[in-house]
Amino acid sequence: MNSVKVNSQKIEQMLNLSLEASSRKRSDVQVIVVTKKVSSEQAMAAIEEGYMHLAENRPEGLELKQKELNDKRLVWHFIGNLQTRKVKKVINKIDYFHALDRLPLAEEIEKRALNVVSCFIQVNVTGEETKSGVSPDQLDDFINSLSQFSKIKIVGLMTMAPLNAEEAVIRSAFAQLKKLQESIKDKALPYAPCTELSMGMSKDYTIAVEEGATFVRIGTSFFE
Ligand SMILES: *Cc1c(COP(=O)(O)O)cnc(C)c1O
Repeated sequence: MNSVKVNSQKIEQMLNLSLEASSRKRSDVQVIVVTKKVSSEQAMAAIEEGYMHLAENRPEGLELKQKELNDKRLVWHFIGNLQTRKVKKVINKIDYFHALDRLPLAEEIEKRALNVVSCFIQVNVTGEETKSGVSPDQLDDFINSLSQFSKIKIVGLMTMAPLNAEEAVIRSAFAQLKKLQESIKDKALPYAPCTELSMGMSKDYTIAVEEGATFVRIGTSFFE
């Protein structure tokens, strides 16, 4: 295992190459450190390198990390599927929710949230059956159906690239998400500014950044 410091330096180097290749700047991309598989001590090492955006994918993990880290500067992301009955446990403890993909979930968020929640709609760009997310052809209808909610702000779209696919396939999935994001942004809906793109994980964040990601979600590469 390398130190988080060494790993983060490598990540920053890779990021900068991708940013340069696409004429973007470092401040255009927010790195989210995915801490779901590591201890609070390891998460702390990332915080010491200056990373303030952390992500968890289970209510229990979120609760434990928030308690142990107890740091007001941190920005919390919930990634991954959230069961409707667990919404009340997490929705008022997070800054961003990355997995909005169905109406009952939106209804429950509306019911439980005390403030407006910044949400990403998860899109299943490649149509893999095992993956959650709204399909591209249902996205417009789904977004229209969210206009009734006062606690949901659609800040952007999120996707997961197909696992172990060729680079061209991954790149095309990210490019498709970017197109969808821009088409929604262009509608200028007050509840759906949709300016952000959450895409890219340890294996594919360089491609995601080249294709316009504004949030990358990196776990393994920080902690391997
Ligand atoms: C686990 C996870 C990540 C981070 O994956 P790594 O391959 O460890 O970087 C990113 N996004 C989601 C939705 C995840 O569940």
